[in-house]
Amino acid sequence: MFRFEILQARGSKTSASWISLTFLCSMLCMWTSVDCWSYFYSNNTMNWQEARDWCKEHYTDMVAIQNQEEIAHLNSWLPMKQYYYWIGIRKINNIWTWVGTNKALTKEATNWAKGEPNNGRNGQSSGVKEDCVEMYIKRDQQPGKWNDERCAKKKTALCYAAACKDGLCLHGNCVETINSHMCACFEGFYGEKCEQVVKCNKEEVETPPYKGSVNCTHKYGNFSYESLCQYSCEKGYQLSNQRPLTCTASKEWSEQRPTCELVQCQKLSQPLRGSMKCSDPLGSSSYQSTCVFTCDEGFVLTGSPSNTLQCEASGIWNSSQPSCDAVQCPTLQELQNGVASCGDDAGMRLSYGNTCSFSCAAGYRLVGPSSVTCTSAAEWSKKMPRCEAITCQKPDGEAHLITQCSQPLTDLRPNTNCSCSCEAGFELHGAHAITCSEDGQWSEAIPTCKAIECPAPEIPTNVQISCRPSLTSPTATPHPLGMVCNFSCEEGHELQGAHNMECANPGQWSSTPPTCTAVRCPLLEAPENGHINCSDRDPVYNSQCSFTCNQDYSLDGHELLTCDHHGNWTEEKPTCQAAPSQITAIASGLAGGGALSLSGLSVAVWILKRLKKKATKFELNSNSDIEAPPQVYKNSIDSLI
Ligand code: CA
Repeated sequence: MFRFEILQARGSKTSASWISLTFLCSMLCMWTSVDCWSYFYSNNTMNWQEARDWCKEHYTDMVAIQNQEEIAHLNSWLPMKQYYYWIGIRKINNIWTWVGTNKALTKEATNWAKGEPNNGRNGQSSGVKEDCVEMYIKRDQQPGKWNDERCAKKKTALCYAAACKDGLCLHGNCVETINSHMCACFEGFYGEKCEQVVKCNKEEVETPPYKGSVNCTHKYGNFSYESLCQYSCEKGYQLSNQRPLTCTASKEWSEQRPTCELVQCQKLSQPLRGSMKCSDPLGSSSYQSTCVFTCDEGFVLTGSPSNTLQCEASGIWNSSQPSCDAVQCPTLQELQNGVASCGDDAGMRLSYGNTCSFSCAAGYRLVGPSSVTCTSAAEWSKKMPRCEAITCQKPDGEAHLITQCSQPLTDLRPNTNCSCSCEAGFELHGAHAITCSEDGQWSEAIPTCKAIECPAPEIPTNVQISCRPSLTSPTATPHPLGMVCNFSCEEGHELQGAHNMECANPGQWSSTPPTCTAVRCPLLEAPENGHINCSDRDPVYNSQCSFTCNQDYSLDGHELLTCDHHGNWTEEKPTCQAAPSQITAIASGLAGGGALSLSGLSVAVWILKRLKKKATKFELNSNSDIEAPPQVYKNSIDSLI
């Protein structure tokens, strides 16, 4: 009774009722020795909603039946006086729901009385909704079972007060049990109040790996649940596993201890047309490895600002892998009046090693190389050629040549005709007309003009010649037109023929050269009764004759005679005179000779002549001979006589 009274709370928290409550609690807790989950009921009746509001106001909530054990407890413990108690189940959206949790009632938890829930179909208020649930307590029939009932009915409120309070469980949830509670520990914790934390093996994580270090942070205690150990590696090394080690609820670390591994860069390859040389101080293609790239001649490194790549601590080369590209020559200028051919591959046509060849259009010739090649220095091997219009050479180089062409001399294209002639005083040697052929050559050799000149005169040895202009002057034409030559003879010689000659058109001398003949003196004979001795056989200029007389005769006249340049002896021929006796003999001889005949007359004339010659000198014909027949002089003699 006493206990019953106490439990009939009146809706107000009087000090007496709290004392009673405490008492009840201590009674109940005797079973479990822990703080309790306690039940309370109202002293009067109210509808379901009022009952719930009352429970929430004074306790925790309307009671939520969890299991049969709880039902049995309530049925035995609650007073008999009250048969019908509202409990915290209600039909919401046509589903029976625990109002404390807003969760649908599970089949296992249901405890309906026989024939229930019937939604009012069997009761007096048939057809009226029965959306709330009551529990029979200590009723004869079906105690502890549930019945659906109209919510407006007035019944006793059945409430509970939770035993769990904040902070009761350090690392867990407080779970209400019948008249008690317990701590459901969170993962990693244990103990009555979940105050103990799980520990992991410190040794397993403490030692850092080679080239590495470890840093652990502890949330709940050293090397305990959710302690975190983060490893790191020296520069150039990387963790085999990036994830930190975490102490799990199962007292195991979440991961294997990682290792620090040398950072690897991607393997590089040798470029085409080039080479690669790597040095690996730590390991192949690893941190601090360097690779130097070089290209073959004519190729240059592209795709990288440097020829040296280094594997960085991040495992990435400091630059992209370079390649070797052929050097490019500058674009060729367009060939005017011609075509440049650089092969089929237009994309590579200006690259190292490529050759471009040239050809010219018809009527043009190539001046310069026929092809050029792109060199390793990115330059063309030769200077660009040009296409020059085919023309014939100007024929004006020849001196004194006059040409008249069908085209200007600056444009002597093929088929141009030129007529050729020479200046006055010159004669043409070669063609009188030439034609420019397709290949830029004249059809004939360009003619030449030669000064008109006379042949070299054949001058007899003793003829002296003097010409204007001088024969010895160094001119191209030794005997030009108009040359005048005068002839003369040496002293003692006589000129026979023309005294001069002139070179006249068409290159002929006006006369033939003369001859010079040595002057001759008359032949001398030995004087009577004497001898003659001459220097020359022929008595020419400067010849000398000397005379001597026989014994008993003496020379009368000059002993030595010289032939002068006029053909005369310098003196009369001398005679040999007998001594006085001798002269008488000769005179008698003449007297005793008989009568004078004609022949005798002739001899007389001859003597006269000789006498006369001695008296007065007279010119003799050079060819005349003192021995000439006497009759030549007959008339003269006649005149003389
Ligand atoms: Ca019912």
